[in-house]
Amino acid sequence: MNLIEELFDMRGKVAAITGAARGIGAQTARTLAAAGASVAILDVLSKEGEALAGEITAQGAKAAFWALDVTREADVKRVFGEIVGRFGQLDVLVNNAGIDGPNVPTHELTLEQWQRVQDVNVNGVFLCTRHAIPHIEAAGGGSIVNLSSMYGIVGGPDVPAYHASKAAVRMMAKVDAMLYAAKNIRANSVHPGYIRTPMLEEAFRRMGQDPDQAFDYMQTAVPLGKIGIPRDIAAGILYLVSPAGRYVTGAELVIDGGYTAR
Ligand code: NAD
Repeated sequence: MNLIEELFDMRGKVAAITGAARGIGAQTARTLAAAGASVAILDVLSKEGEALAGEITAQGAKAAFWALDVTREADVKRVFGEIVGRFGQLDVLVNNAGIDGPNVPTHELTLEQWQRVQDVNVNGVFLCTRHAIPHIEAAGGGSIVNLSSMYGIVGGPDVPAYHASKAAVRMMAKVDAMLYAAKNIRANSVHPGYIRTPMLEEAFRRMGQDPDQAFDYMQTAVPLGKIGIPRDIAAGILYLVSPAGRYVTGAELVIDGGYTAR
């Protein structure tokens, strides 16, 4: 094994990725599997999740799909138990499932809309972390990554519930980093900028905008002058959960083309 293979070697590790049926989560599943991990694909989208598990398995890696809504505690608990039953252990949790919620000013947002975003983006991260920790501890340690956003670091005149939720999971990673360091469990947050995924494409369509035109306009606000792709984020997640990231905990990995550097 050369140095690069050693740094990113995930063979013998088991990773659970929420919201992994498409977008950033799907690319993360492909990337961790390519590094040798067995991957548990968790999502509410069964057709896409099953297809991805088939794609990864066909390439010779181990993958399985579980239909899971991260807001349902009993199901979260059961599924993490089943993952360990199937793959033998759990080493990595990537808390990636998320929704953007309505893009309206705060005073136009209903309490129900606000709570739905917090339910998926914050409570979902809490529930998955809560039920993954005992398994990761039993494996002798491991790592957790919370998908925050550049919107969890800087404000913007849009999606208020989303901003709040992403700031919450940023801090949850830091606190868990402190709480579980002695158990050899690392916790970090990743902060993507504008990444071309179904989430953003659907958001533009809902607003009656053509995604291609919207992305062309958005990239003018990015110092690197382009919109990111899921691979940009998956590479950062691989760094954090692999041996390369063994000394990294409580950190914020910003991958945003320079957006927040101003
Ligand atoms: P996406 O919508 O393409 O994928 C998100 C996945 O989460 C979907 O497959 C969806 O079905 C799943 N999901 C939603 N609610 C769920 C639930 N209750 N239980 C289980 N799964 C659920 O979005 P994406 O752009 O790939 O986003 C992935 C993560 O990255 C999100 O947390 C998002 O907030 C974050 N992020 C994305 C961007 C971006 O520009 N795309 C930027 C910053 C942060």
